[in-house]
Amino acid sequence: MTAFAPTSAWVEEPAVALPNDPLGANESCDLAIVGAGILGLSSALDAARRGLSVRVIDAATVGDRASGLNGGQVIAGFKYDPDWLVAHFGAKRGEALVNFGATTPDAVYDLIAREGLNVPHQRSGWIQAAHSEVAMRAAEERARQWSARGVAAKILDASEIARLTGARGYIGGWLDPRSGAIQPLAYVRELARVAAAAGVRVAENTRVATLKREIGGWVLQTADDRSLRAKTVIVATNAYADGLIPGLARTLLPLHSFQIATAPLPDSVLSTILPEGQVVSDSRRIIIYYRRGPGGRILFGGRGSTAEPTNPRAWAHLEHALKRLFPALTDVAIEKRWYGRVALTLDHLPHVHEPEPGLLVAAGCQGRGVGLMTALGPRLIDYIVTQDAERIPFPITPIRPIPFHAFRNIGISAAIAWYRLVDMLER
Ligand SMILES: Cc1cc2nc3c(=O)[nH]c(=O)nc-3n(C[C@H](O)[C@H](O)[C@H](O)COP(=O)(O)OP(=O)(O)OC[C@H]3O[C@@H](n4cnc5c(N)ncnc54)[C@H](O)[C@@H]3O)c2cc1C
Repeated sequence: MTAFAPTSAWVEEPAVALPNDPLGANESCDLAIVGAGILGLSSALDAARRGLSVRVIDAATVGDRASGLNGGQVIAGFKYDPDWLVAHFGAKRGEALVNFGATTPDAVYDLIAREGLNVPHQRSGWIQAAHSEVAMRAAEERARQWSARGVAAKILDASEIARLTGARGYIGGWLDPRSGAIQPLAYVRELARVAAAAGVRVAENTRVATLKREIGGWVLQTADDRSLRAKTVIVATNAYADGLIPGLARTLLPLHSFQIATAPLPDSVLSTILPEGQVVSDSRRIIIYYRRGPGGRILFGGRGSTAEPTNPRAWAHLEHALKRLFPALTDVAIEKRWYGRVALTLDHLPHVHEPEPGLLVAAGCQGRGVGLMTALGPRLIDYIVTQDAERIPFPITPIRPIPFHAFRNIGISAAIAWYRLVDMLER
């Protein structure tokens, strides 16, 4: 019997050949970046365009982690509505956050256009589908707040949402036209390609084991004793944070997001599901998200177990949810199952830290990192170049580990089971 191996639906066509640029025994640069995901690479590209010499180091290969595995939904904003952000952070910081959140999809689509990235993409909007009356009221309020800020947000009634999604059981929702879909693996690989063409040197399969301060900068050391000296360092390891920055991993709840892809659907079925190409997340506490995928497939995702999945049964809850929403898919084969880590924070906002001068750390994408991390990269570089902290929309905060973090898996599993039950009862 062959061992089960999760496989993503994302395939590069054509494959992007990235220059192999292993780290030498003793190198130096202006800016070292740990992590070659969207954040590391969007920062690197921007820094190189501003004339800095940049080294990016990743323990895996480009595209192997969240940035190449995600659902490719490009969603504006944060978990919080604009008015809440302004009330909570005050007019200045709150408006900066609202404006930043509003433009994260622009950052992605402008980058694709400006750099000529070969990335399949579409910008038909994001639907947040309401499964209950309470969720519908929240959707209406969210749409109202964005409309007041000039967004052509649209409230959807039960028949409109049924037509746009093809799904059963929603009572309505709202449509955000700023958002859309990209092919994530192509996006992160293309980012690496243009960054390399701009002079960034990316070393894959190289784990940074230690980071030490020295006069004038930092020394990054790998487990096999190669070293890199840099004036400034960005740590862009998000949910894959290890012990490199003391306490960082304990500020995050690293959850698994699971996805499945159907076999290619016949036109008669496909034409009834997301006919206009929107991407969808629903309002359940244990969120479900879906979209059309390559080759006439439907991609469907949601929270998974905290343990590493070892067999296809770990995705069974998603298959049930898919068939419940789309009865026409009851007998359709599931071709792919895969997963990756997302980083949640307790306050549901990304965190930026500067534990020491010249060392910047950003993490906590809340499962919305495609737009967010693309937009944040150039802001980090702005800050490095200008030292103007207002260039970063989020407050720069100390690293504060979550109390009782060691028990996170027990807490997360219990919370997931509880919220699944509540979601079910609300159906
Ligand atoms: C299944 C799934 C679905 C998702 N769907 C969506 C979606 O539809 N829309 C959306 O906006 N977001 C989505 N997300 C979230 C999104 O993918 C992430 O927010 C985003 O990719 C984070 O990018 P990043 O560059 O910060 O981190 P990552 O892409 O996770 O990159 C971090 C890198 O750091 C490297 N690293 C860690 N430690 C070290 C070390 N010591 N030395 C060297 N390298 C190190 C890792 O190898 C990794 O490559 C999803 C995530 C998952 C997992």
